[in-house]
Amino acid sequence: MRAVDIIIKKRDGLELSHEEISFFVKGLSNSEIPDYQVSSWAMAVLLNGMTEQETTDLTLAMAASGETLDLSDIAPIVVDKHSTGGVGDKTTLVVAPIVAACGLPVGKMSGRGLGFSGGTLDKMESIPGYRVDLTQEEFMAQLKKLNIVLTGQSADLAPADGKLYALRDVTGTVPSLPLIASSVMSKKIAAGAHAIVLDVKVGNGAFMTNIDDATQLANMMVAIGKLSGRNVRAVLSDMNQPLGEAVGNAIELKEAIDTLNGKGPDDFREHCLVIASHMLELGQQAKDLKHARALAEKMVNDGAALEKFRELVIAQNGDVSYIDSPDKLPKGRLVHTVRAKKTGYLSAVHARTVGETAVDLGAGRARKTDPIDPAVGILVHKKVGDKVDKEDVLFTILANDIEKVPPAEERLQKAIHITGDAKPLSLFYGVIA
Ligand code: URA
Repeated sequence: MRAVDIIIKKRDGLELSHEEISFFVKGLSNSEIPDYQVSSWAMAVLLNGMTEQETTDLTLAMAASGETLDLSDIAPIVVDKHSTGGVGDKTTLVVAPIVAACGLPVGKMSGRGLGFSGGTLDKMESIPGYRVDLTQEEFMAQLKKLNIVLTGQSADLAPADGKLYALRDVTGTVPSLPLIASSVMSKKIAAGAHAIVLDVKVGNGAFMTNIDDATQLANMMVAIGKLSGRNVRAVLSDMNQPLGEAVGNAIELKEAIDTLNGKGPDDFREHCLVIASHMLELGQQAKDLKHARALAEKMVNDGAALEKFRELVIAQNGDVSYIDSPDKLPKGRLVHTVRAKKTGYLSAVHARTVGETAVDLGAGRARKTDPIDPAVGILVHKKVGDKVDKEDVLFTILANDIEKVPPAEERLQKAIHITGDAKPLSLFYGVIA
């Protein structure tokens, strides 16, 4: 078999066999197939798509390219969640402790932000000392002891995806349904959870910008999960405007802590309660969604979820005084407000533009190796559908570099539209199981 023949076959829109996909994934894992051939194959997949069978074969081959965790010793059901990425999405920081506090183990390996979309690890690293590099032994021991782990993706799990993703990122081949589905699901399958809730984001601040594509992606991932014996459910949620108010790292962590304290913005709190409810129901910790929601609310109201988050931070070596006093978290030195230029109703707060502006301020990275500034970011004070008066504060920019403030303000002014009338956006667009 030759890699070039597999590329040609895909270029010509033909279906690859199980053997061809296994050969390609093996070659990509052990670097026998060079990056230029892998990239060219990824472009052929992006342009011509894959059948369901090809996508499943690709996922399972990538999942089997490294170690796979067996979590059955921990508990009969371990639950996981995954977001396809968005702006202001700090959901994991809230739902993992809620669900773990209910007694359902949550073993979560998260990623870093890339491009306009933020990453859970970067947010958690705003806590001095917090470790995101647990070994597999530490992962298993902590999950058993505390019911909660929130660490980085182990390099031993689905290494083929690690390599392929890095190439896709720099070759314009990220937004492909079969490549995203196999990337997400290979990692989830290798990480061993029995029940998986997928938060599939839809909108201009997500990889899937319309509901049809997001539905197709969700269906694909649910089907693959089922084939590998996992209980998977996908929730389609809005990403046309940022989730919650905070977009950055330390400020998102603070918003998550506020939410665990029973405060936080309404949309973010509601989003978390819904996702946590699906995790609890899928993990058989609640008999139905109503019961699950009552449990989730109780964990927030009686402080059990916040206490679980504290335990997590302490277990992973973080300085818990930052959770108890979030005002200690780093904050940009320069605080600049962006005001409405006219009166009306807010009909758009373009999530992607807000995310890109936060990256430019230093909250994200253009390349994987770039450093980030945990202290900078944007507070989004109004939601689509809100009435605004001229001079109302729409955004607060937190920055550390004065030269970055004027371009950020200019971009944020372009991210919003004020019109004569506007309706609020839905938080959710459906559930696929
Ligand atoms: N998240 C992933 O893990 N992989 C993708 O391809 C896109 C989002």
